[in-house]
Amino acid sequence: MQVPSYFFIANWKMQRSFTESVQWVEEYADQLASLETKNQIVICPTFPALYPLAQKFDTTPIAIGGQNCSPYEQGAYTGQVSAQSIAQTGSVFCIVGHSEQRILMQETNYEVALQAEQVLKAGLYPIVCVGETEEEHASGLTSSIIEEQLLPILERTKQFEDRLVLIAYEPVWAIGTGKMPAPASIEMVLEQIINLTKKMSPGVQYHLIYGGSVKSDTIESLRPIKGLGGFLIGSASLNFQELKKIVLSFK
Ligand code: PEP
Repeated sequence: MQVPSYFFIANWKMQRSFTESVQWVEEYADQLASLETKNQIVICPTFPALYPLAQKFDTTPIAIGGQNCSPYEQGAYTGQVSAQSIAQTGSVFCIVGHSEQRILMQETNYEVALQAEQVLKAGLYPIVCVGETEEEHASGLTSSIIEEQLLPILERTKQFEDRLVLIAYEPVWAIGTGKMPAPASIEMVLEQIINLTKKMSPGVQYHLIYGGSVKSDTIESLRPIKGLGGFLIGSASLNFQELKKIVLSFK
């Protein structure tokens, strides 16, 4: 893929049902697809909505992504969805390691690394989330948590030379709270991630994004951050006008 300067990844979580997702797209697909931007917009709905949304945006610049996938390729894993199945819906991206999965579903760093590997094997672009909790942040553990989460991922993805892997820095305490780290702190973490990727996995093309309370009125403060190539957007991505403002503010 032609890598754009910025990715805008809309993480709809489980906020919209299948019917609501399809209805939203019926209403806004044309407007979304005709936004004047050179950057990449990715919509991540729940699993059942992947196929109809991918069909709807098929001939447009908008891409579709899954929100999670199985760490396994195929087999007796009731309730799980493989990366391959996600790719077969016409999706192009897949989020892995979101803190809501790490915390609520007890996903481990190792499982997240396996998921990233499956996503790459299936030909999708992974959006790998890393980030510290509020407690870890307050205890000054951010950099060691980032390293702990990232190393297994780099180990598993380093074989995919030249492939694109998005890494989303998402401090858990910034998700859905209206709080955001200072731009200088985000820049420091991104710098740490860049250094680790260069050292551990130099052949892969890593692209760094930030997520956590990104809104149209907070995004401007993030513009000067060095190394930042996009945003993972939760609640603000549910509102078309808000999403449009966010996308158009970074032409
Ligand atoms: C997210 O959950 O990935 C996220 C960034 O959420 P929000 O934008 O609502 O903080």
